[in-house]
Amino acid sequence: MFGYGRSNFTWNGTLRELEGRRPPCFTERSRPSMTAPPSSSSGLEVLLSTLQNAGDVESTINILNVLDELLSAGTDRRIHYMITKGCSEALLTALVNTGRSFSPNFHLLLPLLHLLAKIGHRDRRIGVKAEDAGAALLTLNLLRQNIKYARRAAACLWVIQVFSSSVSTANLIGENHGLETVYRLIPHFTTKHLHAIKAAVDAFAALLCTKANVCSVVSKGYVAGLLRLYEDWHAKAVQHGAVAICHSLLRCLHKVTHSTAGRQAFVSQGGIRLLYGTTQTCLLSKDLESLVEPSVQLMRKCLTKTPLPLTSDRSAYSFPMPGRAHAVPAMDAEPDENSEETEEDDNEAEDSKEADFDEDLETDLHKLRLRPDPDRPKELLPQYSRLCPELSHEELGLCSEPEKSSAASSTSDGDAALLNGSQSHLSGTDGGWSDSSTSSSASDPMGHTAALAQLEARDFHSHRSILSTGPSFRTKVREASGEAPCVQSGEDQDEEDADESHHGSMIDRLLEKHGVCIPHHEPKLYRAAAARTKSIPGFSLLAFPDFWGHLPTPGHEPMAPRKPNVQRQKVFEDVQRFLITDGIINQVVFDLEDSSLQCPSDSLRFFSGFECGNLRKAVRVRRWEYDLILNADVNSSQHTQWFYFEVSNMVAEVPYRFNVINCEKSNSQFNYGMQPVLYSVTEALEGRPHWLRTGTEICYFRNHFCPARGRRKTTFYTLTFTITFKHNEDVCYLAYHYPYTYSALTAHLKVLQNSVDPAKVFFQQQVLCCTLAGNPCPAVTITARPASRGWKDMHQVRNRPCIVLTGRVHPGESNASWVMKGTLEFLCSSDPVAQSLREAFVFKLIPMLNPDGVVNGTNRCDLSSEDLNRQWSKPDPVLCPTIYHTKGLLYYLNSIGRTPLVFCDYHGHSRKKNVFLYGCSVKETLWQSGSAVNTVGLKEDPGYRTIPKTLDRLAPAFSFNSCNYLVEKSRSATARVVVWREMGVLRSYTMESTHNGCDQGIYKGLQTGTKELQEMGGKFCHSLLSVTKDVKSLDSQRLIGHIDNDVLDHKSHNCFEDDEPPCVEQIEYSADCPAPNGADLDSDVNANATAADEEEDNDGHGEAKVCSGGVGRALQSSARGRLFPPAM
Ligand SMILES: [Zn+2]
Repeated sequence: MFGYGRSNFTWNGTLRELEGRRPPCFTERSRPSMTAPPSSSSGLEVLLSTLQNAGDVESTINILNVLDELLSAGTDRRIHYMITKGCSEALLTALVNTGRSFSPNFHLLLPLLHLLAKIGHRDRRIGVKAEDAGAALLTLNLLRQNIKYARRAAACLWVIQVFSSSVSTANLIGENHGLETVYRLIPHFTTKHLHAIKAAVDAFAALLCTKANVCSVVSKGYVAGLLRLYEDWHAKAVQHGAVAICHSLLRCLHKVTHSTAGRQAFVSQGGIRLLYGTTQTCLLSKDLESLVEPSVQLMRKCLTKTPLPLTSDRSAYSFPMPGRAHAVPAMDAEPDENSEETEEDDNEAEDSKEADFDEDLETDLHKLRLRPDPDRPKELLPQYSRLCPELSHEELGLCSEPEKSSAASSTSDGDAALLNGSQSHLSGTDGGWSDSSTSSSASDPMGHTAALAQLEARDFHSHRSILSTGPSFRTKVREASGEAPCVQSGEDQDEEDADESHHGSMIDRLLEKHGVCIPHHEPKLYRAAAARTKSIPGFSLLAFPDFWGHLPTPGHEPMAPRKPNVQRQKVFEDVQRFLITDGIINQVVFDLEDSSLQCPSDSLRFFSGFECGNLRKAVRVRRWEYDLILNADVNSSQHTQWFYFEVSNMVAEVPYRFNVINCEKSNSQFNYGMQPVLYSVTEALEGRPHWLRTGTEICYFRNHFCPARGRRKTTFYTLTFTITFKHNEDVCYLAYHYPYTYSALTAHLKVLQNSVDPAKVFFQQQVLCCTLAGNPCPAVTITARPASRGWKDMHQVRNRPCIVLTGRVHPGESNASWVMKGTLEFLCSSDPVAQSLREAFVFKLIPMLNPDGVVNGTNRCDLSSEDLNRQWSKPDPVLCPTIYHTKGLLYYLNSIGRTPLVFCDYHGHSRKKNVFLYGCSVKETLWQSGSAVNTVGLKEDPGYRTIPKTLDRLAPAFSFNSCNYLVEKSRSATARVVVWREMGVLRSYTMESTHNGCDQGIYKGLQTGTKELQEMGGKFCHSLLSVTKDVKSLDSQRLIGHIDNDVLDHKSHNCFEDDEPPCVEQIEYSADCPAPNGADLDSDVNANATAADEEEDNDGHGEAKVCSGGVGRALQSSARGRLFPPAM
């Protein structure tokens, strides 16, 4: 007995098995040579060396049988072992030795070729090995000599197929006219020799793995031939079980259309129309259904790229950047001449990206542990003392109206202005906000100030907050009030007052009649706040839901079921658009840049000229179907994903299909149960002011659109959904996720400030800085007011650790704002835990790091078209003021010994479920990267896991298993990593909340609503009790239960892409036909091995029966009679 690798396999067992059912030809004569006692480690090698040294035919065949037996019964591991021991090389040598003779013995060659095919498709280097052994062209010659013999030809073809896994081998065969040889073996439909024909088609497909071979095939005009072959085989495939050959032909077409020339040939030869026709037949037959997906993918791939119907890919909104000569680059990027490169290039790029995931982990211990030098001189830090009012005796001590105590930082005057709509406060320079704008503009170049002044002027002249937008709602308002509502902030004081009071009373009546009490929301306050918000287009209208408010839906909303094959069907319908143009309207019905556009009376009406709105264009495609194009981020031509728009003039109970055609993310939770949200004005006026998850037939897939002028290679994705409106002539709003505007934040903070008991809660809203567009970025301090003004109490307050929470750096992640809202409301509440937290900590919140992006409906960036969460290393004070000053505040806290105990930046996640944290750990990063650095001596406080561990118990939406603590190079400039590394905050996190829902816990299978998001914000606060040092006084053990400190029982797993880990769920994107799998090849080979031998018998070798060695399992109808029909 000799051991077999590490798999505990022994020869004895197999030989016993073989003896039990010994094939007839397994003679006594050959047995001794096999059971001869070689050294225990080299049994296989002995066998292989015997094989290469060309013994007599019979023992060679016996060796092949044993090898085949080993292979067939073996695991992948065993096969791999055989390959490492030189099995492929031995077989190749045997093949060359046998095949070279003038009249090769096919009784030997057939099993040899069969075994080579089986081993070969498991050996990644088989092509190279074959070339080295001189076997590639030899096999091609054997094929040519034996095309009359179906079994021999099939065996040669399989071997050619596996050899072609190497590009150079495939090219070698192609250069030697192998393509023609193989192509001629593919006949029109026949019932004979199906396995050999399939082998020929598969070999042909395999040879097309190289560009040279594809070019050669296209230039020879084979594309037309392949299409005719497919048409023919397809027509008769059902009756005759030839579906597999159709599959293989599709695979050939897929390979050919990797090249531009191939796609052109495919299209010009009517490939799309042909496949469209055959696919419709497929849909009627269950047997043919498997052909639908590859056909649809092929059509999609070959559809000519259609530029988006835009004059420019640049955003409709541009903003003059301070210090830059032009607001935007003068021209769009030139169309990329090489853009029509083959798609395989794309795939390769994607592959290498994935392979690089681990390389993204930071393995440089110095970079992980050493603090970089501060990005600014120390002298710049004292300005931030104003953002620490809790350290000021006067601020803290005054219980009543604390905001009056500091004109510089208080917002009360400004907010009074908000409520009154008072003209004098709308000049843009009122005291409340001016403090910080001077502080930030001190370093501004002149250009910035000028731009701001201009913007302010424009905004404040035109700023009218008019409640009402869509025609139908406007009517409703008129019915209620007799006149369109309007509030102005223009110069004409008298008129303004009159309008205001009239408007005010109308609003009062409307709200009185229809309004619902929405906690922490005051419509009039919202309107006043919106009047102060500065937008690039100078929005003068409010979206109704933002004004009126939203109540969380009663109950839960389950994830939408995904209809089987919905994606296939949608893509098919897209193809249809190009082939059957009857009923295609293609009329622009909304254009953000053309307000004069006339919309047909029977069309839906669209509008997005309000805060966070970002629909750029709507095209009516068919009677009930609309293509929607989103506006790119300001000053940019990309990042589209978020949407928010108004739709009206609908007919009730009709399914309308919407296609958002320029999404950019490669996958979306819309494929996994997520629905967009809809708000109906009619429903709201009837007492149901809810954003509801809505839509059926939801699907997210790659489409055939490309940028209007930019790189053709850019891929867009379609989000399609169907909505059936409940009411005729309603005004509805549709959004990617529950909107939360900047004006909502400012109004909300005001309501909160008014709601707290100033004797207990210290709540101070200040301005961190002004944004590029001149919007104040709020910073809030919350803590418990000291019990007395005595030294001891005041001292306790000053020693409270700081917790810094930020959010909404990415405007498209509105869920982050709802979580932040939950946090703010909880911290201001009378809940005993909130009270404990306020007594334990000073909270500093910057709820919206990117107000300008939020206001202008961008998805990712701010006005400088930068992702602000990549700017933390060295934030520019002019271009990224909010990041610059947030970091400044953190530096300041650091400099006075008040480094935050916890930092958390709230985000939203479009591609994962649940809520989870990303943290930072040196050890875990090194472990995960497989770094050679010895971590045994490395000390690291495992306390970064306490909060996630606690949240896992407290927060139903939270998933500990989704968290990770890896530090990536590509994220070295994010808030989380910079605050951890530069400020030394151990517990520095990104909190990601799903846009969709949960797949664990009590919310499993449900989509999250604003209620769940807000709850998460509260639970996050709860979890902070787990990091309080003074456990006794807080009684936090009782409040949050026992916290297990032995937390290192989970390891970080996934790495992530962007802020988001790659979606683990599979999606039907494959542009390619699925590759043939090894089991199919095995089964084909086995069938060939056991097939009747008639044709070979005729060749004169019939008397020596070939032993099938028990390898045959799948029997296929024997190939009889004439061989291949004459070559085509
Ligand atoms: Zn984000």
